[in-house]
Amino acid sequence: MELYKFLPKTNCKKCGKPTCMAFALDLLQGKVKIDDCTPLLEPKYKKNYDALKDLIGSEEGKEKELKIDVDTELCDGCGICVTICPVNARYSPPTLSGKAPDYPPEKHQLFQVKDGKCELLAIKYCRRIEAEGRERECRVCETYCPREAIKIDYV
Ligand code: SF4
Ligand code: SF4
Ligand code: SF4
Repeated sequence: MELYKFLPKTNCKKCGKPTCMAFALDLLQGKVKIDDCTPLLEPKYKKNYDALKDLIGSEEGKEKELKIDVDTELCDGCGICVTICPVNARYSPPTLSGKAPDYPPEKHQLFQVKDGKCELLAIKYCRRIEAEGRERECRVCETYCPREAIKIDYV
């Protein structure tokens, strides 16, 4: 969101991305450069352009990987992340019961609770990772964990 707020927010698609939000996500991951958004080079966006340069600095264009950390000290095994992750809900209906009692887990299952703690199983199916041209700015697990035990980052 920090990067997005300095983009033109017109969704003009000149960068080849469907939305400015998609561009912001790629910018964060180092997949595109600020100059790929050509409208930003117009004088009226000079302040935005400079702000983005300041925010990204020398990290511009350096590809980063998604990291989802679960702090097992904070986690109390409530199962909300298991229920609420849209990938779990879509591909592993048993997870809608909360604790995902089926073990071993379904192929696409991202989270399950085992021995009272959340386990991250298959980050490669997270909606934040591009698959078949689809990539989404999902942050549901991090947002709804009541213990703030989940952190999404790019490293
Ligand atoms: S070119 Fe810039 S303004 Fe247009 S969609 Fe891409 S990021 Fe948004
Ligand atoms: S929502 Fe948070 S506290 Fe609950 S199981 Fe998931 S990581 Fe643990
Ligand atoms: S970011 Fe979204 S898709 Fe990825 S693990 Fe969290 S809830 Fe699931």
